[in-house]
Amino acid sequence: MKSEESKKDDFLKTKLSAFGGVGPKRTELLSLLGLETAEDILNFFPRRYEDRRNISCLSSLAPGRPSVVFVKVTEIERRRLSKPGLEIVTAEIEDETGSARAFWFNRKGLEYVLKAGTEAAIFGTPELRSSVFEFPNPEFDILKDKNSKNSFIGIIPIYPSTAGLPQRWFRHFAENIVCEALPLVEETLPDFIIKKRNLMPRKEALGAMHGPSSPEEWKEARRRLAYEELLLVQSAMSLKRKVFKAGKAAAAIKPGRMYRDFVSSLPFQMTESQENVMSEIFMDTEQPSPMSRLLQGDVGSGKTVIALGLAAASADSGVQCVLMAPTEILADQLFHQTEKYLLPLGITSAIVKGGQKASERTLTLEAIKSGKICVTVGTHALLDEKVEFQNLGAVIIDEQHRFGVSQRSALSKKGAAIPHTLLMSATPIPRTLTMCFFKDLDISFLKDKPKGRVSVETRIIGTEKMRELLQFIYDEIRTGGRVYWVCPRVCDEESSLMKRKTFLDKYFAKLGVAMVYGGMTSDEKEQAISDFHSGKCKILAGTTVIEVGIDVPEASLIVIESAEMFGLSQLHQLRGRVGRGTKRGVCLLLVSSQEKIQNQRLSVMAETDDGFAIAEADLQTRGYGEVSGSLQHGSSEFKTADLSKDAKLLMQAAEDAEEWVSNNQYIDEAVKFAENFSEINSQWLGVG
Ligand code: ADP
Ligand code: MG
Repeated sequence: MKSEESKKDDFLKTKLSAFGGVGPKRTELLSLLGLETAEDILNFFPRRYEDRRNISCLSSLAPGRPSVVFVKVTEIERRRLSKPGLEIVTAEIEDETGSARAFWFNRKGLEYVLKAGTEAAIFGTPELRSSVFEFPNPEFDILKDKNSKNSFIGIIPIYPSTAGLPQRWFRHFAENIVCEALPLVEETLPDFIIKKRNLMPRKEALGAMHGPSSPEEWKEARRRLAYEELLLVQSAMSLKRKVFKAGKAAAAIKPGRMYRDFVSSLPFQMTESQENVMSEIFMDTEQPSPMSRLLQGDVGSGKTVIALGLAAASADSGVQCVLMAPTEILADQLFHQTEKYLLPLGITSAIVKGGQKASERTLTLEAIKSGKICVTVGTHALLDEKVEFQNLGAVIIDEQHRFGVSQRSALSKKGAAIPHTLLMSATPIPRTLTMCFFKDLDISFLKDKPKGRVSVETRIIGTEKMRELLQFIYDEIRTGGRVYWVCPRVCDEESSLMKRKTFLDKYFAKLGVAMVYGGMTSDEKEQAISDFHSGKCKILAGTTVIEVGIDVPEASLIVIESAEMFGLSQLHQLRGRVGRGTKRGVCLLLVSSQEKIQNQRLSVMAETDDGFAIAEADLQTRGYGEVSGSLQHGSSEFKTADLSKDAKLLMQAAEDAEEWVSNNQYIDEAVKFAENFSEINSQWLGVG
């Protein structure tokens, strides 16, 4: 005899193909939606609902008010319309109180389904046309008996696009499965939290998601499920932080002579923010537990100095330091900086990247392993297990949003004890996202930018201004400036980099037009950047590979083509490439004239220079998915929670998670809860 437990599992794990009406074709369509088992259906929520609670008779319809009517079809006919390929089916309908009309476009065979004499329920929004009410494209159901009325009225779930699966079929299919699965649903949240936050039990919430009895009930159900998702992330983060803090740091890092020499060798004074951040960092690195800190600073706020400062202090403390960048261009640039500022102080550095000669690489790796090299700069290539250190004390990751979490922890596993970690991010992250995804980190901000930096003047211009634009570019270069030209794509019809390069060559060949994009070899890329750096080429045309970190002080103008295709934060990053030297910076967002009138979103760019405000605007207009995608945090999308709306719920979940995890009475339960979700488990609890 089967135990209760296995009976429950049996049903929830039942393959959908085992249900009636699901053949190979539908199994495949369901699987495209990620639906394999009964349990998947239970967790697959409607995209929206149709409120069909307003039952009306034909005599009391009101134009524009969605209504359900129960009618009899008196006449139905199909006609071709004058436009080729367009057909209309029109039905005359009536009930005891009056008559009306319904019509559908291109519904072949409908006239055989809704034959004259058929009784049907119809749901739609009627319009009044020459004193007749008409339902354009209404939903309908044929009424077999009085009882079938009930399944058509109420609040009806509309599931996410089920292309090829009839919405009505899917609804009934889901309803049956949910009905059978619900009694088997178990509570996942601890009692104290349910009481404290007054949450709906899980069983009830899942039921209400698929068939709410009122909008209020649905709201409560959604709150409960969103809360659970947020609590899951929060408890995983709290646990991770707890584990990390309990670890032992590789070594204490204290600033000494080399650090002080570094600071005094800088051609400028550190800003107050930079000094504050340095002392926040040293306060951590002098502790026995490892630092795990995120440095957020807008573009151009001077994060590189911080990285070099920590590297110098590592040298002071006799430990090695790693500086990892997301692209070879950036790694090269960082390496130039270490050579320029650290080498004169006797601090050795090396670079590790893909495509290096085997002999050269072997030598470098030996020098790193023997401890001869103090600062190792590089790309992902650093994660290779052949890269070994003698005593790695600090890991610095530039532009961290470009890296996944697993890469982060791969580096920190390179020593037995845990190195201090500093993540640097130039993409300001909205506060809610920071709270959610970086709660395991301490956070520092570089608030002010180096003195004298004026904000980049940003204008949106239509493509019809091309002639003026070319003149402007020419003047800009004549007065000592340099120009970036960014295209969204390499090859394409309109705004392609290839076409644009040819175009720019036509006008500016004498001034030199370099080109850079992802598909080039690293030598080619390096050549292009260095030609632009040295001034051999005054224009650099490229894709967003130039987005992060490139630092050419003479660059004063950036033209971004088809700007509407970029996220706001990305545009902000891009414009951060100019105005870094003495010449003021200008950013021109080039859009079609049509786009110029319609696109409200871009105007934020002209209005503010505050990266955080822009990130918030991005979150509001493009939604959380887009924004979090750029964080590449390896997190799956939330099913119900929406960080652009659920900030308050997130705060509550954060508070409760902390309470849960720090209370010894609950900790086991919290760990078990977090472990339930294996994908998050491996990503977020996997600290070495
Ligand atoms: P980001 O934060 O975007 O990485 P960088 O570190 O590349 O910024 O710094 C941008 C520019 O500002 C560089 O040219 C750098 O030399 C300069 N810079 C950094 N700190 C200061 C400072 N305190 N005073 C003046 N210029 C500075
Ligand atoms: Mg930088």
